[in-house]
Amino acid sequence: MKKKFIGANWKMNLLQPELEVLLQELSTNSINEDSIEFVIFPSQIYLADCINRSNLTFGAQDIHSENNGAFTGAVSAEQVKSTGARFVLVGHSERRSVFQENNTLIKNKVNAALNNSLGLVFCCGESLDKREKALEKEFVLSQLEEGVLHLSGQHVAKCIIAYEPIWAIGTGKVANNHQIEGMHNFIRETLINKYGYEIAHAVRIIYGGSCTTDNAKEIFALNNVDGGLIGGASLNFESMNTLLNSF
Ligand code: PEP
Repeated sequence: MKKKFIGANWKMNLLQPELEVLLQELSTNSINEDSIEFVIFPSQIYLADCINRSNLTFGAQDIHSENNGAFTGAVSAEQVKSTGARFVLVGHSERRSVFQENNTLIKNKVNAALNNSLGLVFCCGESLDKREKALEKEFVLSQLEEGVLHLSGQHVAKCIIAYEPIWAIGTGKVANNHQIEGMHNFIRETLINKYGYEIAHAVRIIYGGSCTTDNAKEIFALNNVDGGLIGGASLNFESMNTLLNSF
């Protein structure tokens, strides 16, 4: 059975003592590992320490597209892998907008992640402007075509695609069920057209954007929603715990 996927994107939050408390709380939590894959994405600086301290699964929030070299401040997929981390987020909207990452760079990062056997969480999603002009599907399709649809079926089957409308991230504005299901169905159909039914259904398509304890249960029950990527609500144990029990 395909496991649900829940990612906790801690972004550039938490100092070491706060992180230790949250990690301790989450470590004692009983997650049904047969049906849920729970992955925490802490700041890169804490990644190795988190892995050494806890039995939970971790991933990096970003990687460089090269394996090594003169890239001051950057971290490669190979380095991430060497810490014991298992996943990486690529193409998060904050990387795309704040750090000006384009689809070409994102595609190179996707390849770097897979070449180093890291689980890929590929983020995509439209701006409010695109949604208001009814161009959201066209826009997400271009992100998929330029970021992941070059992959072989074998590789894509292991990927997680996070649909995160930019206007819903960190804003408190959650996309409605119709908008979420519409886009998830569209992503699934795109995968079916390219790779066939079996591979397309192996891919987990998760939703991110102001997911909270108030709306998660309803969102996670929608057609073609295989879990969530959680930002703000993942920084608090009680809310994270409720989200992990929202299936
Ligand atoms: C995110 O950063 O991926 C995210 C979904 O954030 P939030 O839950 O805070 O909207």
